Amino acid sequence: MYRIGFIGLGIMGKPMARNLLKAGYQLVVYDRNKDAVKELVNSGAAEGKSPSDVASRSEIIFTMLPNSPDVKEVALGDNGIIHGAKSGSVFIDMSSIAPLVSKEISGKLEQKGVVMLDAPVSGGEPKAIEGTLAIMVGGPEETFNNVKEILGAMGSSVKLVGDIGSGNITKLANQIIVALNIAAMGEAMVLATKAGVDPEKVYQAIRGGLAGSTVMDAKMPMILNGNFKPGFRIELHIKDLMNVMETARELDVPVSLTDQVLEMMKTLQRSGKGKDDHCSIIRYYEDLAGVEVRKK
Ligand code: NAD
Repeated sequence: MYRIGFIGLGIMGKPMARNLLKAGYQLVVYDRNKDAVKELVNSGAAEGKSPSDVASRSEIIFTMLPNSPDVKEVALGDNGIIHGAKSGSVFIDMSSIAPLVSKEISGKLEQKGVVMLDAPVSGGEPKAIEGTLAIMVGGPEETFNNVKEILGAMGSSVKLVGDIGSGNITKLANQIIVALNIAAMGEAMVLATKAGVDPEKVYQAIRGGLAGSTVMDAKMPMILNGNFKPGFRIELHIKDLMNVMETARELDVPVSLTDQVLEMMKTLQRSGKGKDDHCSIIRYYEDLAGVEVRKK
């Protein structure tokens, strides 16, 4: 059985690490938030002193961190994974970061004999807890096949999509679709509410038809209850859409709808809602229309 390292024990990383423990893997964990480390140690993990220490005690090292600079620091910085990892070990970054940064980190680790996979996830905290995330992976097929079972402890859909960086390209596509879906739902539900129709009845009437979606079923109950607790923070979705814009510029593809929703999210962030769940996009429409889409 592989010894596994896990770095980044936030909203997502904590339940994902717990699921690895439940599946019987030996875990050494690290986060700069000591309370999060304590919780995992109480559940049976060992405490690592730094990313480098975690790497030196593991054959497979996972990270689940906010953004590209965090992953770069943990992987390549002082006391980073690169200083402790043994040749032949595997680094699996499950954070959502810029695809180019995944490639850059992979290139540096390769020189030390460490193979990297980028394996971002979709599904949010509830699916992280259930162990039913969708995991989209980039990297060598042989490495993927060796670790697929371990990823299966965290996700119910584990798919290899291509070379290193492809996982994060897939995640960017995912984040465009989720953001635009929430905005479309916000626009529609604010219209229905202002017209005097009960939004809960509108939701129930359309959720089984073509307009229904996983996004609608996850977010409408939260909106109707006025629950904007994250889940997935607006500020993290802004980070993903900024990565979309950067990647789209490099590839010369149009992303005008993404750009519009990004502006809505930035407006919400400026009004102090950056740490709220991304279903708060509806509040951009609510503020302009002067109605609230809530349970009667
Ligand atoms: P989070 O902010 O809750 O957790 C990040 C953790 O990383 C924190 O515990 C923080 O202390 C730790 N950390 C940050 N920098 C560190 C460093 N240099 N050294 C050690 N620890 C460090 O974020 P999250 O919601 O768990 O998201 C993590 C990643 O997963 C992000 O890329 C996010 O976009 C992605 N994601 C999140 C969701 C969601 O619903 N929350 C869903 C899918 C994907």
